[in-house]
Amino acid sequence: MINLIIFGPPGSGKGTQAEKLERKFNLVHISTGDLFRSEIAEGSELGVRASEYMSKGELVPDEVTIGMLRKKMMAHKEAEGFIFDGFPRTHPQAEALDSLLDMLDQQIDALVMLDVPEDEIVNRILLRSKDSGRADDSDESIIRNRFQVYQTQTEPIYAYYDAKGKAHKIQGTGSIDDIFQKLCDTISSIHV
Ligand code: AMP
Repeated sequence: MINLIIFGPPGSGKGTQAEKLERKFNLVHISTGDLFRSEIAEGSELGVRASEYMSKGELVPDEVTIGMLRKKMMAHKEAEGFIFDGFPRTHPQAEALDSLLDMLDQQIDALVMLDVPEDEIVNRILLRSKDSGRADDSDESIIRNRFQVYQTQTEPIYAYYDAKGKAHKIQGTGSIDDIFQKLCDTISSIHV
């Protein structure tokens, strides 16, 4: 049983690496960004509310995000472990995650940050926009706002897990396979 957080700025490769980790460690992958995008595609009330924030590169309010995450986790009580991608992004979300895992008698084992500089992020996301079709990927000012929001609201979460001895940082540049190898080495060094 292992519960991981894949952490880093938008465009740092969290989703790509989370999919690989999901397969290798048999985890349930929860991406709050993907969950919001499917709510939007369904035209649900939650989707309509979330898209107001997502289209500007702002965070969706905590109570909405936490409620959606709780529902998803409770639907997977049988999970061998989770990989959280794009969550937590604020302190209240980190605290809510701790108590949700506590209810399942589990805990976060590690947060791994993919470190990628801002200019590379902007280039990667603009390139990705050609295939992703995401409105928040195709406008440089929205991308820069997402990076700004990451730095002010989300990056401090690293310290929250670091204080518990659970935070790790790796270079998020290079090939997908090399980064995955570094992630696996980091995870194997954790005793669970
Ligand atoms: P992502 O796919 O992780 O880049 O997320 C896309 C957008 O969804 C973000 O820019 C936010 O507007 C919203 N979002 C995703 N996860 C969260 C979260 N944990 N808290 C608040 N907003 C989120």
